[in-house]
Amino acid sequence: MRVAHTIDATDAEGPGRRFALWTQGCTLRCKGCCNPELFDATGGTERTVPDVLAQIAAVDGIEGVSILGGEPLQQADLAALCEGVQALGLTVMLYSGYLLAEIVARDPDLLDHVDLLVDGRYDATKPDTTRRWIGSTNQELHFLTDAYDPADPRFSEANTVELRWGPDGLVVNGWPGGTRKVVRR
Ligand code: SF4
Repeated sequence: MRVAHTIDATDAEGPGRRFALWTQGCTLRCKGCCNPELFDATGGTERTVPDVLAQIAAVDGIEGVSILGGEPLQQADLAALCEGVQALGLTVMLYSGYLLAEIVARDPDLLDHVDLLVDGRYDATKPDTTRRWIGSTNQELHFLTDAYDPADPRFSEANTVELRWGPDGLVVNGWPGGTRKVVRR
């Protein structure tokens, strides 16, 4: 799979502390997308699922993995990654520009190994300022397993943004509305 970048442990991309992985490549091209640098399917780094799973397994103190894009559904080995994450005893949160029905039509088995799904194209004309981890009001958070309770207060807390300084400079992740203000694209 093409991987744009990863963060070993973040509190800003889903419930609890999570490993986050951004896939590289997206043909959906939502106007106002906060990650246009992830459109090019030739960017990023080619990695195998076992290699990514080994990186995840080496991280202590995470409860799950969040997979973002780019468009994760445009990676042929996404299902294997999701299955492998759950086999490690971790939860899977998937962000996709495709609707749940479109995902099922593309791959009826893929969501068997996804606990939380945020679905739908990002619509810049409908920014969502109330629901955590959701960019626009047309998108939905689906609880696909009983791993999480919708009443869990973590789902109604305020969105957050994280800033990291590393070898490649400033890295900003978390709520898209917040990262835009920091990065000012
Ligand atoms: S699906 Fe996601 S990555 Fe692709 S254009 Fe839309 S918001 Fe951006």
